[in-house]
Amino acid sequence: MLSPGKNDLWFLPLGGTGEIGMNLNLYGHDGRWLMVDCGVSFNAPLHPVKTACTNEKERSENLHNIVAPDPRFIVEHKEALSGLVLTHAHEDHLGAVPYLWPRLRCPVYATAFTAEVLRRKLVQVGLDNKVPLIEVDADKLLQVGPFSVRWLAITHSIPDPFALHISTPAGNVLHTADWKIDAQPVAGQPFQHTLYQSLGDTPVLAMVGDSTNALKPGMSVSERSCFDGLLATIKPLTGRVVVSCFASNIARLISLARVAKKTNRYMALVGRSLVNMYSIAKSQGIWPEDLVLADVNHMGYLPPEEVLLVATGSQGEPRAALSRLALDSHPQLELSSGDHVVFSSIIIPGNEEAVHRLLQRFKAKGVDVVLSEQSPLPIHASGHPCAEELKLMYHWVKPDIAIPVHGENAHIQAHCAIAKESGVRKTYAGNNGDLYRLSPQAGIRRQLVKTGRISLQK
Ligand SMILES: [Zn+2]
Ligand SMILES: [Zn+2]
Repeated sequence: MLSPGKNDLWFLPLGGTGEIGMNLNLYGHDGRWLMVDCGVSFNAPLHPVKTACTNEKERSENLHNIVAPDPRFIVEHKEALSGLVLTHAHEDHLGAVPYLWPRLRCPVYATAFTAEVLRRKLVQVGLDNKVPLIEVDADKLLQVGPFSVRWLAITHSIPDPFALHISTPAGNVLHTADWKIDAQPVAGQPFQHTLYQSLGDTPVLAMVGDSTNALKPGMSVSERSCFDGLLATIKPLTGRVVVSCFASNIARLISLARVAKKTNRYMALVGRSLVNMYSIAKSQGIWPEDLVLADVNHMGYLPPEEVLLVATGSQGEPRAALSRLALDSHPQLELSSGDHVVFSSIIIPGNEEAVHRLLQRFKAKGVDVVLSEQSPLPIHASGHPCAEELKLMYHWVKPDIAIPVHGENAHIQAHCAIAKESGVRKTYAGNNGDLYRLSPQAGIRRQLVKTGRISLQK
């Protein structure tokens, strides 16, 4: 039985290390475990796609298969699991809770926005009254078993993102989760470096953090610059404008509503996840009251130059709004020659083929397409730190050990190099299933725990 002792502080990722997606992290101390995040992955086929399927329909369905980390280890140790703490509401951090919680049955802790996103998911599977979901006040220290958890406001690409400062008698860890430095995030408070600078005053044993953009030099683009880029892109356009973006990026939706106002267009949302996220933002007081959206049912009656639609489906998902618009199968709307589709998003690796099919269909209709990858102006901003942001964080926090997670091997290696360059003595590049011993003696035991992925679809 693998159980941490009184002097031990362990880190054990079951998902999200050596890959991007389906984060599931465990911290171990004094016979107890704390779980941080419990997410899903998309576009992670269980079998090689080309050999598994033959036709296009099957292939795209398999491509969008939902998977979660195999929780077997912690299910076997569930009596020792003190709780699950959620850092933010992205699918790769909380999407697996409705599926895995029945096997874990532990208390779940989250701040208001994240809790509301989860609550709505739990309602869908009839678990809303069963899961002890505790809404956390981010200003208060939270005690979960032997772990003291302090919530540290950070900036990312969704409302209410938090890093966690986890303290135990055996040492302290900064678990950054997903973050960037955004001085003008459009929604929420700007990044506060003093918060992280003050962490450096007390010993931080390890920093466990986001490697997504470690291969990219410089600093990430601010949401505010993205607003400027979208305004300059959309202002000269005639015809209808459809913008596709990730539904949970409320700041982007606010920017687009402001762009609509400034360009005399009515904005409406097309797609269930967008409508759901907007409704959560309204209920949480995040949506500015002066920005009023139009009913999608009215958009078909407006002159094209007064229409701005925000649609789901930037990755070419076959049932999402953008694909329906491309195929003229949307019940309320039809696009025609002279209209524009603006991708305020990136193409996630693995989805190139599906997106390409979408682009071909729009082009065949005479609909002009603007991709963020080809745009001279910033019309998408990543929510993850580039190299200079990572260096600043190491400079402030000064951890003894750097543990890069949330990345594939190349991202993790690049993150290790940045940490070393920033003066961190020990860096551990590892994978799901590796046991990182942080205290009393730092070290890593490779592949101690069996991990894998499980399919969440029937
Ligand atoms: Zn995230
Ligand atoms: Zn993430």
